[in-house]
Amino acid sequence: ENRPIRRALISVSDKMGLVDFAAGLVACGVEIYSTGGTRRHLSDHNIDSIDVAEYTGFPEMMDGRVKTLHPKIFGGILGRRDNLEDLNSMQDENIVGFELVVVNLYPFAATIARKGVTREEAIEQIDIGGPSLIRAAAKNHQWVTVATRPEQYSAILSSIESDKATTLALRRKMAEEAFAMTCSYDLAISEYFRAESGSNEFPSDLTVQLERKTQLRYGENPHQKAAVYRIPRDSGASVVNARQVHGKELSYNNLLDLDSALSIAKSFTQPAAVVIKHNNPCGAATSTKLALAASKALDGDPVSAFGSVLSFNRTLDVETAELLVEPNRFIEAIIAPDFEAGAVGILTTRPKWKDNVRLMQVGHLLPLAPERTIRFLAGGALVQEADTLPAFQSQWRTVTDAPVEDSLWDDLLFAWEMVRHVKSNAIVLGRDTSLIGVGAGQMSRVDSVEIAIRKAGDRAAGSVLASDAFFPFPDSIHAAAEAGVAAIIQPGGSRRDDESIAACNEHGISMVFTGVRHFKH
Ligand code: 5GP
Repeated sequence: ENRPIRRALISVSDKMGLVDFAAGLVACGVEIYSTGGTRRHLSDHNIDSIDVAEYTGFPEMMDGRVKTLHPKIFGGILGRRDNLEDLNSMQDENIVGFELVVVNLYPFAATIARKGVTREEAIEQIDIGGPSLIRAAAKNHQWVTVATRPEQYSAILSSIESDKATTLALRRKMAEEAFAMTCSYDLAISEYFRAESGSNEFPSDLTVQLERKTQLRYGENPHQKAAVYRIPRDSGASVVNARQVHGKELSYNNLLDLDSALSIAKSFTQPAAVVIKHNNPCGAATSTKLALAASKALDGDPVSAFGSVLSFNRTLDVETAELLVEPNRFIEAIIAPDFEAGAVGILTTRPKWKDNVRLMQVGHLLPLAPERTIRFLAGGALVQEADTLPAFQSQWRTVTDAPVEDSLWDDLLFAWEMVRHVKSNAIVLGRDTSLIGVGAGQMSRVDSVEIAIRKAGDRAAGSVLASDAFFPFPDSIHAAAEAGVAAIIQPGGSRRDDESIAACNEHGISMVFTGVRHFKH
């Protein structure tokens, strides 16, 4: 399916590399047609070309708004060379065929990026004929080759030089790139209009552009194909951007869990360690030292911690590494801002450990920016700001007769920070700034309370309980009291708040209302 190239139509704003390309085409016997500015540029470099206006019999008009928009041009690009009627039309109307179309567009993006550019200037930089030429040529790639960037010239020219023709594979690739180009060109224009209308709808600028990063072995399950995409130009501290310093390929579920683990570790200022299983925390702790935090986090639920992923908000040091590498502990992956060299040595040389664990270095953890989250649904997507609202302690109210004991405030703060990271209905029990029980993703709140209490066991006595949303009934309070919970933190706002407060008073438990809900669905 090689197609010889006899005639080229050239109309470019970016003249880079054009002279060499055109000279090469001429040397191969290709006849060139071009528009005003392009033709002047070529003739300045002693390359002859035929004036499009002369060929169509129509002058360029309206400041260049109409240059190539003419049937003699588009017929010459779109005509099917194996279709008798198309060929007859071409002959009847004196239409010549173009086998090569070289077009790049008015620099719209560069223009609007300039300071002080007026609306009129921007509008004038919307290319009309160019995208049409490109799309016409790309559509008819069976017969026509289209070049939209100077970087493509050499591949096309060398094909013409060696074979006097282009292959279908090359034409198809150029067509694909051409449609991607006109698509992003129009996207830039629509964003300009949207920004101009200054709409304060949320989000005002949603354009999801992703670029492929890697193929995964499979998705959540082995029968699902999967890949990782990244947001171009986003260089923030994220799992997608993290550098893998050791271990086998990460799985889809590893990446999901590491992402959750990192977002929790990020939210603490003290040294913190987090243990994640199936996207929920089963251990977490803060302390004055990373190794202490790690030890407390792993003790939170040692059974569930088997096969977990871990995150840290400080450089993983030798002391912490030594503590992790117990022979019977199985950790899938660890993410941390950085690793001490000695720590990497320990984690990657101990038997059993060295082959299983993946180490991810994520770099400096920036304070939380107001990111947004996007979840795709069948037929659309949900977009929201991420739940990064800080805890406004000044707005909290103790609603019970019993005040909160001073010694419990750190735990209340810790538990309240943790509960937003647990799937609703979420209940967490905290003690000594560590997670000792979690009830996640239950369809009734009291079930989550009971699971959290069971997980905590003896340790529930004297702990604090956080709930991501209000208690609809006082049953959860009674269950917490029976387990010995000392204080409760929750948003409040139920019609039956007074019943829950009365239950706390009856049991001598203190309770704080935050006024803020942290659902996570
Ligand atoms: P030149 O510098 O050759 O005068 O113009 C080249 C530019 O004009 C190219 O960027 C091409 O995309 C654009 N162009 C070609 N035909 C038309 C047309 O009919 N209308 C508009 N608005 N632009 C065109």
